[in-house]
Amino acid sequence: KPIIEVKNLRKVYRIGTEKVVALQKIDLEIQKGEVCCILGTSGSGKSTLLNMLAGLEKPTRGQALLSGVDVTQLSERKLAKFRQRNVGFVFQSYNLMGGLTALENVAMPLTYQGVSRAKRNKRARAMLKAVGLGNRIYHKPTQMSGGQQQRVGIARAFVAKPKIVFADEPTGNLDTKTTMEVMELMVKMARKNNQTLVIVTHDPEISVFADRIVHITDGLIDSDKPNVSIVPPL
Ligand code: ADP
Ligand code: ADP
Repeated sequence: KPIIEVKNLRKVYRIGTEKVVALQKIDLEIQKGEVCCILGTSGSGKSTLLNMLAGLEKPTRGQALLSGVDVTQLSERKLAKFRQRNVGFVFQSYNLMGGLTALENVAMPLTYQGVSRAKRNKRARAMLKAVGLGNRIYHKPTQMSGGQQQRVGIARAFVAKPKIVFADEPTGNLDTKTTMEVMELMVKMARKNNQTLVIVTHDPEISVFADRIVHITDGLIDSDKPNVSIVPPL
C-alpha cells in the first residue's frame, strides 16, 4: 500500500468573482522509501499540492492520504498531532527559531513526542554531528551560513524519525555547490531509515537525486517517470 495517496485532488481559489484553478485533478501514489521530486515552473501548483499533503489547506475536492489517514478531513488538533508524529518539513527559508541555538532547534520536534530533556539533547547532538555541524551546536541561525542553516533544518526534519519528509524548494536560497551538498545530505538521511522524501522544486538540476520525477503543469501531472540518471546513494 502506498504511504502517500492523492485521489482526484482539486483546488480552486476564489478571489472576489475571479476563480484560479491551482490544481485541476491530481492522482498520485508514492511508495514508502521513495525519494520523489515534484517538478514544475512557478505557478504550476506545486506549493498548493504540498500544502494539501501537509493538511495546511483544504482542497475543493478529493483526498490526500498519508499512511491511510486522509489529512484533508482531520481537525486542526488531530492534524497537529498527526504531523508531529509522522511528518517532517524542510523549508526554503529554513524557518529556524532565531532565538534558539542549533541544538535547541533540532531538539524541538522531540519535545512534542515527550522525549526527556537529556535524550532530546543527545539525539539532537547526534543529528547535528551527522549533518556535519558537530562543532556548531551552540550557534544561532544568524551566526551560520545559508547552507549551514539548511543542514540544521534537515537535522530538525529527520530527528524524530518521521515516516515522511516534505521539502519545499529546499535549495531555493542556496548557491549551486551548496545545493548539491544539501541535496546529497537530505537524500542520504532519507535512505538511511527508509523514509519517504517528497521534494518540491522548479529546479530540474536537483531532480537528479530523486528516484522518480513527477512533472506538474497548470495543476495537472503531465509526466511521471522513474529517474534514469539517478545519483547512487553515497
Ligand atoms: P507553485 O508553487 O508551483 O509556484 P502555487 O501552488 O503557489 O504554484 O500556485 C498555483 C496557482 O494558484 C497560481 O496561479 C497562484 O497564483 C494560485 N494561488 C496560490 N495560492 C493562492 C491563494 N492563496 N489565493 C489565490 N490564488 C492562489
Ligand atoms: P518560502 O518559500 O516563502 O520561503 P517556506 O519554504 O518557508 O516559504 O514555506 C513553504 C510552505 O510551508 C508555506 O506554504 C507555509 O505555509 C508552510 N509552512 C510554514 N510553516 C510550517 C510549519 N510549521 N509546518 C508546516 N508547514 C509550514
